[in-house]
Amino acid sequence: MQNGIIELISEDRIESPGAREIDARGRFIAPGFIDIHIHGGGDSDFMDGTIEAYLNIAETHAKYGTTGMFPTTLSGKWEDFINTLEIYEEAKEENRKGAKFLGIHIEGPYLAMSQKGAQDPRYIRPPDPEEYKYVLRKYPFVKRWSIAPELPGALEFGTYMRLHGVLPAIAHTDAIYEEVVKAHEVGYSLATHFYSAMSGVTRKNAFRYAGAVEATYLLDAMDVEIIGDGVHLPGSLLQYILKVKGTDRTALITDAMRAAGMPEGPSILGTKEDGLEVIVEDGVAKLPDRSSFAGSVATMDRTVRTLMKETHVSMVEAVKMASLVPARIMKIDRTKGSLTRKKDADIILFDDDIQVSMTMVEGKIIYEKN
Ligand SMILES: [Zn+2]
Repeated sequence: MQNGIIELISEDRIESPGAREIDARGRFIAPGFIDIHIHGGGDSDFMDGTIEAYLNIAETHAKYGTTGMFPTTLSGKWEDFINTLEIYEEAKEENRKGAKFLGIHIEGPYLAMSQKGAQDPRYIRPPDPEEYKYVLRKYPFVKRWSIAPELPGALEFGTYMRLHGVLPAIAHTDAIYEEVVKAHEVGYSLATHFYSAMSGVTRKNAFRYAGAVEATYLLDAMDVEIIGDGVHLPGSLLQYILKVKGTDRTALITDAMRAAGMPEGPSILGTKEDGLEVIVEDGVAKLPDRSSFAGSVATMDRTVRTLMKETHVSMVEAVKMASLVPARIMKIDRTKGSLTRKKDADIILFDDDIQVSMTMVEGKIIYEKN
């Protein structure tokens, strides 16, 4: 490789004066994981709004094989939200030991109250054109926005996002099939944490309606992202998703909150001052009354491991769902997502249990075990 780019892939010995040789010693060599939905880790949340939080999350997840990520915001105070966006570029500049920041993913606050999950209801509201236009104008690194497509103004929102190169995704939604079809027509092409906070079949006055889940299955060009912690979705649903959507349309995500990479116990979803108290147990964050999950504590290695354990997919396919598929969904697969000549040297080494022992971002080793 040269300047962080893969120059040549060969089974023969390559002569390259001055280059460092890395012996994988029987480990697997794979493209780094790309997490397109992640809120935190290592006891930090992107909504903390500090450079340290950004760097801590990037470094925590790099130890588990993530080489690129889309920092994700939650529905929260306007000032907190804007603050997180304001410092993004400085955090990106200072980030030398962590997974690379590839753009911001905004989740909410334009969500269905009835599907709020762990999003703070105080801030949930319908799309406000003045507000989202301002955000895109001011922060061109926003690359994805997840909202409920049935809300008033959601179709105009989707059209506007597409026009500005931002991926609109359906999330925290009570939409029926027909509403998702309309949203898909204007550009919504991804289902955010598929199945979580999402409508299925409902009945109104004896008549049955297909929901967002069924619409996502039926629309061939809809991609899905799934929380691969083995808790949010049981093995049966993982198999069902792969049977219908296939491995090329299914991306693995962590949707991790701050407790990822931390011991289990009490934690907070969102900012430390204004967030929701949660409890981490059974490998997942829950609301204190245990009525709902409140984000995952997964890392990308765990999502790959879960898929291999719970479904029939091979290691190669599971890794693809954590690298090339998310890269393609976010339109960065020209430079990232696979080990190919002229792509970025985002490379990881792991054993047959996906325990990561080296992480390289654009040719620089940022993590090495021992
Ligand atoms: Zn999320």
